[in-house]
Amino acid sequence: MPAPQCASCHKARAALRRPRSGQALCGACFCAAFEAEVLHTVVAGRLLPPGAVVAVGASGGKDSTVLAHVLRELAPRLGISLHLVAVDEGIGGYRDAALAAVRRQAERWELPLTVVAYADLFGGWTMDAVARSTAGSGRSRACCTFCGVLRRRALEEGARLVGATHVVTGHNADDMAETVLMNFLRGDAGRLARGGGLGSPGEGGALPRCRPLQLASQKEVVLYAHFRRLDYFSEECVYAPEMLEAARPSAVLDLVHSAERLALAPTARPPPPGACSRCGALASRALCQACALLDGLNRGRPRLAIGKGRRGLDEEGPPREPQPSRPPTSEPVPDF
Ligand code: SF4
Ligand code: ZN
Repeated sequence: MPAPQCASCHKARAALRRPRSGQALCGACFCAAFEAEVLHTVVAGRLLPPGAVVAVGASGGKDSTVLAHVLRELAPRLGISLHLVAVDEGIGGYRDAALAAVRRQAERWELPLTVVAYADLFGGWTMDAVARSTAGSGRSRACCTFCGVLRRRALEEGARLVGATHVVTGHNADDMAETVLMNFLRGDAGRLARGGGLGSPGEGGALPRCRPLQLASQKEVVLYAHFRRLDYFSEECVYAPEMLEAARPSAVLDLVHSAERLALAPTARPPPPGACSRCGALASRALCQACALLDGLNRGRPRLAIGKGRRGLDEEGPPREPQPSRPPTSEPVPDF
């Protein structure tokens, strides 16, 4: 089947469907829409006033590459000037290649670039030195805790060095969702309250910071980089921990324990499980989960026992071809 026509220009063939709206667009119309949305985020949120000197936190990765490229497109309309600021954390075999990508971008886009290094800013400490010193105490966890805090400080120092009035970072909507989820899990009301906006106004003498891609999904950031043929660095840091644990070292176990400690109001408690009316196994409804699933299959409606369809199943009559019953069992049936 040929691709549909672009819903915007009605000329080119669509090259993608936007993940959120489902709109079919060609690459050019998608990029134009993406840039217009970032412009709207910046203007509506009054994030970067005309005349601002903006330090773009550049890591060479996809998010900051897309951010720098979009802001460079928008700079004349916004009346702002850009300066790339890259942080050299001192991670052998990783950061050098990422910094090379930032240097190529600066050259291609004719943007000034300043690199600030942990070693210069923090009394000779590099991330490799931090990793050696924390080895044996959950190295990857400790590394990112140090690195996150130090990078924020380094970016601020670099931005001041180049005379910036504002700092921007490439966090996208997925990054922000992860942060919100983690703050919920920690029960950190303070951070939840502070993190709701698109940036911080520069409290305590810090430069105002914002995240112009905060409303753009990761998928669309990748699509934009693809259609604009952006050159970015995509290898993972040697100290990067596993996904969930990157945000909170004990996240996986914390999630498991949180379910154990969940305190339910008496009215919200499910009724004690009874016996399945068909096979006698432990069941929280009229039919146990196995009988319900088989029932759906026998009725020719396999999705009947999944999700909300299950409600109807308990109320419906017998299946067309009932399954043979089996002896009662006390095996508990999980009911997630
Ligand atoms: Fe720093 Fe951790 Fe990111 Fe590596 S993965 S750059 S150590 S925050
Ligand atoms: Zn189009």
